[in-house]
Amino acid sequence: MTRLSGPWLKHPGTQGVLRALEEAGHPAYLVGGCVRDALMGRPIGDLDIATAARPERTTEICEAAGLKVIPTGIDHGTVTVIAGGVPHEVTTFRRDVETDGRHAVVAFTDAMAEDASRRDFTMNALYATREGTLHDPLDGLPDLRARRVRFIGEPAQRIAEDHLRILRFFRFHAWFAEPSEGLDPEGLAACAAAADGIDALSRERIGAEMLKLLAAPDPAPAVAAMAQAGILSHVLPGADPKPLAPLVHLEAGTAPDPIRRLAALGGGDAPERLRLSRQQTTRLALLCDLAGNVTSAAEMAWRHGADTARDAALLRAALLEQPLPEGLDTDIATGAAATFPVKAQDLMPAYQGKALGDRLRTLEARWIASGFRLGRDELLN
Ligand code: ATP
Ligand code: MG
Repeated sequence: MTRLSGPWLKHPGTQGVLRALEEAGHPAYLVGGCVRDALMGRPIGDLDIATAARPERTTEICEAAGLKVIPTGIDHGTVTVIAGGVPHEVTTFRRDVETDGRHAVVAFTDAMAEDASRRDFTMNALYATREGTLHDPLDGLPDLRARRVRFIGEPAQRIAEDHLRILRFFRFHAWFAEPSEGLDPEGLAACAAAADGIDALSRERIGAEMLKLLAAPDPAPAVAAMAQAGILSHVLPGADPKPLAPLVHLEAGTAPDPIRRLAALGGGDAPERLRLSRQQTTRLALLCDLAGNVTSAAEMAWRHGADTARDAALLRAALLEQPLPEGLDTDIATGAAATFPVKAQDLMPAYQGKALGDRLRTLEARWIASGFRLGRDELLN
């Protein structure tokens, strides 16, 4: 029998929450992403706990144990318990009463199996006690071991309940599936048939899912499948999945970055469609702009820093289906380390105001064209 282990499980805060609930007579389990990630040997993200205790009881019990409780989503049965400095999302076992493709009305239940049945994929419906004993009411473990992302129950029905599951299907495939295996055919067909449902989702939710998908080590096969299934065009009209695979290939060794990947997909109104932050929007626009022009890598590095220059060079090569230019790293290092030797004071008082700015830009262009070699005196004379 597989057991969960790892220092994160032994964390006194996590142990404290689980023990407090258990000792008060309410079974409580780690569930979902943290159990899945631990079993796959991946870093643990957020900690979700499922319990038979109702939210008010959870609150009483945890507060009595000296823990801080925040009523984050009490109507849906969730409170956040801070223990040992770590937030734990504690949610009462639930079942769906009513769904409309976007929201669900839930009722509390005492049955783990019911709680499991409303989750999305079999690998996301694993529960673990604080000792690490696993409960697998829907047979998710074999799927997890085979790295198969499979809907719980009838895919079409599960998607009709919540269309976000379409995007989650592709995201989890990108992160967890066996690379040599395609997507689960039944799940894929159900997603394709329900593609229109994407339009009913909030742009915040679509954007958050898409960015998580694009942060996977290799999202290219999942995104290609989304395009083929007619889903990508609902997420990002005009996006082209083709440059993504070459980009990921060229990235080798460069940390995954969803905005760089988004730039490769194109699709003009990504900021609006995916509700990107101001910072993400600015970066996306800059990368698209640099990738589309012919500024040298060294100049890009001088103007925007080494990371942006590298991102833009990767994008350019991916879009043109070319290898990275020879000497790229050296050029970027040169540009990033260069210091323009002329100061405004050097040109004053002969130049003032706009003329001063123009003169500085002219000299800077000359200096860049020289490969950052011309010195102060050479530039001034
Ligand atoms: P990660 O935190 O890495 O995004 P996760 O699996 O923990 O992955 P969450 O969104 O944190 O995903 O959700 C926690 C759990 O809640 C999931 O593992 C799944 O069991 C359930 N869940 C989340 N969203 C849905 C959904 N839209 N439909 C059904 N179950 C869901
Ligand atoms: Mg999670």
